[in-house]
Amino acid sequence: MAKSRVPVREQDPKVRAHNFEEVCLGYDEAEAVQEAQRCLGCKKPMCVAGCPVGIDIPGFIARLKEGDAVGASRVLARDSALPAVCGRVCPQETQCEGRCVLGVKGEPVAIGKLERYAADTARRMGVQAEPPQEKNGMRVAVIGAGPAGLTCAGDLARMGYEVKIFEALHQAGGVLVYGIPEFRLPKREVVEAEIENVRRLGVQIETNVVVGRSVTIDALLDEEGYDAVFIGSGAGLPKFMGIPGENGNGVFSANEYLTRANLMKAFSDEYDTPIVTGRRVAVVGGGNVAMDAARTALRLGAQTHIVYRRGEQELPARAEEVHHAKEEGVVFDLLTNPREILLDENGWVRGMVCVRMGLGEPDASGRRRPVEIEGSEFTMEVDTVIMALGTSPNPLIASTTQGLETNRWRCIVADEQDGRTTKEGVYAGGDAVTGAATVILAMGAGKAAAKGIDAYLKGRKK
Ligand code: FAD
Ligand code: SF4
Repeated sequence: MAKSRVPVREQDPKVRAHNFEEVCLGYDEAEAVQEAQRCLGCKKPMCVAGCPVGIDIPGFIARLKEGDAVGASRVLARDSALPAVCGRVCPQETQCEGRCVLGVKGEPVAIGKLERYAADTARRMGVQAEPPQEKNGMRVAVIGAGPAGLTCAGDLARMGYEVKIFEALHQAGGVLVYGIPEFRLPKREVVEAEIENVRRLGVQIETNVVVGRSVTIDALLDEEGYDAVFIGSGAGLPKFMGIPGENGNGVFSANEYLTRANLMKAFSDEYDTPIVTGRRVAVVGGGNVAMDAARTALRLGAQTHIVYRRGEQELPARAEEVHHAKEEGVVFDLLTNPREILLDENGWVRGMVCVRMGLGEPDASGRRRPVEIEGSEFTMEVDTVIMALGTSPNPLIASTTQGLETNRWRCIVADEQDGRTTKEGVYAGGDAVTGAATVILAMGAGKAAAKGIDAYLKGRKK
């Protein structure tokens, strides 16, 4: 048994640093079969326990061993509406692959790359989701067309419910379309195709509806005849540091910067979306969002720095994203914390005062606490600053829905097992409940809530 996985082909870093095409080229058939053959097909597969939606991993890999990508995609479709998305963006190293027994003495099976191969191949061969045969006459409204909402809607449609998603933006997909860049997750070929599969299950998606403004949850239940509501409205409200100069011209939240670049296609000459592309850009933060903003700014022609107050070990971004960002030329200023953004006489960014940090004792998160090194202040010459410090849920829905409780982080209070909130008939999941997390955790919550809604409505019928 080979200890190392079959390497995956990628665009050359020097070339891809100047384009928005996908970085990872994925496996071809021979490579996928060879990698699939490394899987031991464990009787008690640890990888499945590490997957928040419980995909039958040995089952789909067994089909790939036989060269049956379509069969593999059918196994995936039982548990996931977005396998080509998850194969690309899930933090597999801490989930399924982190549990694979082959990882003890060598490299774990490349589960994500195999999932992506199966889903891409089936899509290219025209395999489509099959709509359910019978409807049960009950209607569920879903708020938000991100991974949580799409998953909940797809599962409920499969159970026979009539489901309609209300989405605030003009396009469905949530962070998959407005946040994660094209070079990691192609929009037309991958995201739109998987959303189309959810539509094929009978789910209707109405865009440009801001729930809380155009219609309220109480109105959906009491006036529009919905039997239950699922809230999957995400966590789109950016956080800032509260340091002087943060309101200056040339300071962005990562969400705004990435939305302009991705959803509004500022990277393409065919669109006239304005975006300030400075020559020297500092991205403050160390998560996936920070890596995406930095790599986008780099592709738009800037010299780009990641400024993060902890060390390399503590970077919360996926290991692959950090590795890719370095290969492409993003500079990492670790153990560095901004104190002030300096503005010129017209209010534009001209620099950022930072201080160097050391690492102290572990804090509540288990990571070593960053401590300022006295007298280490210095000024970075930058003309654009992008803040990627995390996000929290928008309070609009909670403030317009009677009886819906939130916690002190503005997250909706919901039962982890079935998504039940404090308001009868209203369920919630994904980033709106947990705060910013991951695609697969949002999908897991959407699945749990679909089961919870089904149990509630069946119970009510009796
Ligand atoms: P969202 O994806 O945020 O979807 C919520 C949807 O609800 C949105 O479409 C929004 O417009 C809509 N909405 C909000 N309010 C209303 C309203 N009032 N009425 C109607 N609609 C509304 N996770 C990973 O696993 N891997 C990654 O590599 C990764 N990279 C990321 C990169 C970036 C830049 C960002 C921002 C996040 C990343 N994440 C990643 C996190 C992941 O994308 C989120 O955890 C996930 O999308 C959450 O899904 P969700 O459905 O809860 O919310
Ligand atoms: Fe295959 Fe690893 Fe899962 Fe075992 S743990 S079934 S070897 S992927």
